[in-house]
Amino acid sequence: MDVHVKGWVRTKRGNKHVNFIALNDGSTINNIQVVADPNTIPENVLKLVTTGASLAVTGQLVESQGSGQAVEIHAKTIEVLGAADPEKYPLQPKKHSFEFLREIAHLRPRTNTFSAILRMRHAMSFAVHQFFNNKGFNYMHTPIITGSDAEGAGEMFRVTTLDAKNPPLKEDGSVDFSEDFFGKETNLTVSGQLEGELGALALGEIYTFGPTFRAENSNTTRHLAEFWMIEPEMAFYDLEDNMNLAEEFLKYLVQYALDHCADDLAFLEKRLLDEEKNKPANERSAMSLTDKLRFVVENKFERVSYTEAIDILRNSNPNKKKKFQYPIEGWGTDLQSEHERYLVEKHFQKPVILSDYPKEIKAFYMRMNDDNKTVAAMDILFPGIGEIVGGSQREERLDILSARMTEMGIPHEEMDWYLDTRRFGTVPHSGFGLGFERLMIFVTGMGNIRDVIPFPRTPGNAEF
Ligand code: ATP
Ligand code: MG
Ligand code: MG
Ligand code: MG
Repeated sequence: MDVHVKGWVRTKRGNKHVNFIALNDGSTINNIQVVADPNTIPENVLKLVTTGASLAVTGQLVESQGSGQAVEIHAKTIEVLGAADPEKYPLQPKKHSFEFLREIAHLRPRTNTFSAILRMRHAMSFAVHQFFNNKGFNYMHTPIITGSDAEGAGEMFRVTTLDAKNPPLKEDGSVDFSEDFFGKETNLTVSGQLEGELGALALGEIYTFGPTFRAENSNTTRHLAEFWMIEPEMAFYDLEDNMNLAEEFLKYLVQYALDHCADDLAFLEKRLLDEEKNKPANERSAMSLTDKLRFVVENKFERVSYTEAIDILRNSNPNKKKKFQYPIEGWGTDLQSEHERYLVEKHFQKPVILSDYPKEIKAFYMRMNDDNKTVAAMDILFPGIGEIVGGSQREERLDILSARMTEMGIPHEEMDWYLDTRRFGTVPHSGFGLGFERLMIFVTGMGNIRDVIPFPRTPGNAEF
């Protein structure tokens, strides 16, 4: 019986008696070997079978004599659906740098590495929904365009139909948004949390999973201007319940990758091992990618207060020659990713949940602790990344929330809808945000967040 396969040529090798074509249809990292005999397949067709060309092949599936694959297809006919001129096609079978591949982001899904990452993005998205669905959470869609900017702090992208060069102005010279599409100033959302809270205080347990936008300096390997965030929000959860859920969630996702992405993980792991071989021995990672994933699943995350963490950091010398790039000034300092990674990678050597941060460095909606200095916040820190999750118990007490808003200069009129949840039937509740691309960095072992999203958006970069 004949089989039919369609896909893209990864490589072709052989001689004048036989051709071996590695064909890939995108469904898996593994190629199917097509054997083409020049006596059966015309020379003018074989000439067009080059890396990147698309083919439709009919032939017989037989046990392979060669090593590396169990079966192969002996081609009876090959139709070249789309040729790819080897002089012009940028993805020739050699190692391309990730910098180069970012410049051809429209073609990079056709490489082994990026196809593996994209399949894993899909698997991880599916796992997110499965986890929450299994627990009875409702998936809630929060708005992309938002009229509230309480969280923005200058990091929002404005959405407007006004003429940017010549907007209508008010008497005081400021832009008159009453003439704009929505009749007020609007922005792209930085987080679905505040709207998510409305859902939790009606449905009990919800999660959002959508794009978020931050016009921040994203010239780091951990920040994008457009990224995807998963934000569960739960009524009747205190901070500890919140931490327990977040830890269980992260472990579930990592275990899901181990269980369902074995081939892609094996490929990425091998790629990383090859990279490690080029490094000096003392810089090589002792753990393989799957070891790292198993380590997260198997170890209880360390739970430490911010205050304890500051003590540890102040008394530590991360590197014999030099101290941290950003010194720890003392209690009240916000942690940089180098501090977070030190705690995880050097001090505790496991994922860390840091809690109870000074109120000054956290958002207005986080619940005030009895000491009146710290809030019931928690960040989860991962090796190689630093912060992967940020969350808190929310301030459910109207008077305290209102006083915090006044203290931080947040106008009450704008947030009246939010305050209604505290005016009527308020309950203790909590939630957190997981940056989807930070998770993807972890499960794929990639070093740069630009390489785990199909279309990275960073300052100066929105090609298409
Ligand atoms: P960071 O300290 O790394 O800048 P953050 O504290 O500003 O992060 P949160 O507002 O707590 O971030 O957002 C929740 C989560 O979203 C973070 O824990 C992180 O995983 C992810 N995240 C935040 N900003 C970005 C970004 N610019 N690109 C990708 N992921 C992000
Ligand atoms: Mg930030
Ligand atoms: Mg942070
Ligand atoms: Mg945070």
